[in-house]
Amino acid sequence: MNQLAVDKKETSNSSLPPFSEFISVLKAKMKLVFNERADINQLAIKRGLPPFVLREIMSVNPLAVGIPKEFGGRGGVMSENIALLATASYESLALSLTFGINSALFLQPFGKFGHTEAKAPVFKRFLEDKTMGGLMITEPGFGSDALNMQTSYTEEEGKFHLKGTKHWAGLTGWADYWLLSGRQKTKAGNLQRDINFFLCDVSAPDQNIEVEEFFENLGLYAIPYGRNKIDVKLPAVHKLQPHTTGVKMMLDLLHRSRMQFPGMAMGFIQRMLDEAITHCNQRFIGGKSLFNYDQVQQRLSKLQASYTVCSAMCINSSEKAGLEVDMAPHGMEANAVKSVITDYMQEAAQSVVQLVGAKAYKLNHIAGRGTADSRPFQIFEGSNDILYAQITESLIKLMKRAKESNLFQFLKEYQLTNRAAEYVKTQINFNLDLQMPQRKLVEMGKIIGRVISMNQVLEMADKGFRKDLIEGGITMLQQEISKLIATFSFNNKSQVVGGYEENSGWFDFVTG
Ligand SMILES: Cc1cc2nc3c(=O)[nH]c(=O)nc-3n(C[C@H](O)[C@H](O)[C@H](O)COP(=O)(O)OP(=O)(O)OC[C@H]3O[C@@H](n4cnc5c(N)ncnc54)[C@H](O)[C@@H]3O)c2cc1C
Repeated sequence: MNQLAVDKKETSNSSLPPFSEFISVLKAKMKLVFNERADINQLAIKRGLPPFVLREIMSVNPLAVGIPKEFGGRGGVMSENIALLATASYESLALSLTFGINSALFLQPFGKFGHTEAKAPVFKRFLEDKTMGGLMITEPGFGSDALNMQTSYTEEEGKFHLKGTKHWAGLTGWADYWLLSGRQKTKAGNLQRDINFFLCDVSAPDQNIEVEEFFENLGLYAIPYGRNKIDVKLPAVHKLQPHTTGVKMMLDLLHRSRMQFPGMAMGFIQRMLDEAITHCNQRFIGGKSLFNYDQVQQRLSKLQASYTVCSAMCINSSEKAGLEVDMAPHGMEANAVKSVITDYMQEAAQSVVQLVGAKAYKLNHIAGRGTADSRPFQIFEGSNDILYAQITESLIKLMKRAKESNLFQFLKEYQLTNRAAEYVKTQINFNLDLQMPQRKLVEMGKIIGRVISMNQVLEMADKGFRKDLIEGGITMLQQEISKLIATFSFNNKSQVVGGYEENSGWFDFVTG
């Protein structure tokens, strides 16, 4: 994190240190626990976090960033939260996701939609007892299809009774506070369509959540996941108060959270870049430094371009995704940001493993671990396949409304792409058939996601970000868009062949 940039954001809550000082202290604490008192490469191969790590890190009150000023926090300033996530993810993606879960999935929505009466004690415990909070939406039968969740609630004697099963919630069995989602059960026993959210305090009577199983998650060892049985009775003031519908409240929450993914990606990608440069400078192969091989330069420059695109996204989200904004209508932008940047996170880790070679194929190597740690970012909070398809579905709606079928003509007028369209004009200057199979929706979504990203890079260029990096970012995006357009125009309708084993065993065809 650029120190100058941090210095600009001073907090106005006088009981807290200025933001730049807070970030410096957090960095020092991370250095202490991850490099001096312990070695993160050893810590990260064991599940959970030793108490002293958590104690030291929580002693700087990182979660105050997500707490409103009137309750003693830093006010939930978006740029500060993104800076917090980025600072943490340079050292540990799991720590950054822990902060991300607490802020984007608990403190921000609770601060925005929580009942005034319920807020004070919760925020107090975050600040004084360093407690944590998470969000439970996903159920064993309903992940991507969350709107059909089966967790139900009824109202009985002024309390809400929630019943159901939730799994894969980050901080399972660890967080004290949860936002639980469910659908109201009518007297006839049907579930209503709208979804509501409730605060649950597991330490209060009737609010305990039983963890039926802890999962052996493939990466992110510091964070516990599992399956939870929900059977809780919650006070009326624990129901979150949507401004319109519960589904729109959920979209506001999810879209704002997706806009904050670049924060978690920022430090991670920068770390992958720094690790790769250091390794390639030190490693000599065939009498010369790895750094000087052309294919290596291609990989390093791609990592650097991802750093640039991610920086642009951090600025953009800081300016656009504040708590006061209703993010529900901003699905196109949020989906683009989340899916593109999580693809870059995974590609960054994979590329560093390739450059480092066998040494990286270890749980105690940051890049090897990074492949497993970054992988679920492409799955949670909206599977990227689905998000990319949704981007194109939104595009088609907008193009129909504008009565425009030429992709370039539309994108050059559209506010999220108007700057970038010219840079890929030759590739996108065609009439889009608005009827397309799902695989084409996904491919087109990848293209649009990258045009939206390029727009953000161009806006960052106007602010004075260094030119050579901007050029690298634009070139990478242009190349990716060209490749994706080639894929998109290739007509492939292949379907999986049923009973494929018949007449397809290679051994039967060996002659001689
Ligand atoms: C590390 C991790 C952390 C998580 N944290 C949380 C959390 O804190 N809180 C929480 O509530 N949940 C959390 N989740 C759950 C996560 O949000 C879900 O895993 C995600 O929504 C996908 O649901 P699913 O796993 O049931 O997959 P499914 O819904 O079964 O989807 C699996 C795959 O099927 C394909 N697919 C699904 N639907 C379609 C479609 N319509 N068209 C085409 N393809 C489709 C996609 O490729 C998709 O990736 C977490 C998951 C992981 C792995």
